[in-house]
Amino acid sequence: MSPDDLKALVRSIPDFPKPGILFRDVTTLMSDGPGFAAAVAMLAQRVEAAGAQAIAGIEARGFIFGAAVAAHCGVGFIPVRKPGKLPVPVLAIDYALEYGTDTLEVDPGAIADGARIVLMDDLIATGGTAMAALELIRQAGGIVEEALFLVDLPELGGASRLREAGVAVEALLDFP
Ligand code: 5GP
Repeated sequence: MSPDDLKALVRSIPDFPKPGILFRDVTTLMSDGPGFAAAVAMLAQRVEAAGAQAIAGIEARGFIFGAAVAAHCGVGFIPVRKPGKLPVPVLAIDYALEYGTDTLEVDPGAIADGARIVLMDDLIATGGTAMAALELIRQAGGIVEEALFLVDLPELGGASRLREAGVAVEALLDFP
């Protein structure tokens, strides 16, 4: 299956979650068995090339792809969670959204000092979410040299922000 085949499995929904936004819906790719398997295998190749010891995935769709890729590669999976979900003392970071702020949390005990971690999410847009997750993992002592996404929306600049922060960014698909 080629990247173009995968791209055709992503559904585009106008005006979601609000007017003017064209939402790239990856659930249609996930529900296609061969498409999901191909995407996971392609992402896994990149994790293996990076020599990662663990994948940190961002709640919620980053869990779906990140956990599947981690199992495929035989490396650990670290959940980067929305607030109040982890049952232990956490490292937390607030980050700006278009309107208001959001928070991500991680269990610092899940990240060994100096561990090589690949950051994963389904999609990068402005990069606010991924930059916050990067900061958390670095605070916990992890080393993030690579971030991996199914989809990049390059015009929104998130991949560039991550690269400026010293992280190599790869995505299987992009939508201009
Ligand atoms: P950013 O913080 O880079 O602006 O937004 C990326 C985050 O919002 C990711 O966690 C991603 O799941 C979600 N997101 C933003 N826009 C879209 C979209 O069009 N499709 C999907 N599937 N997720 C999106």
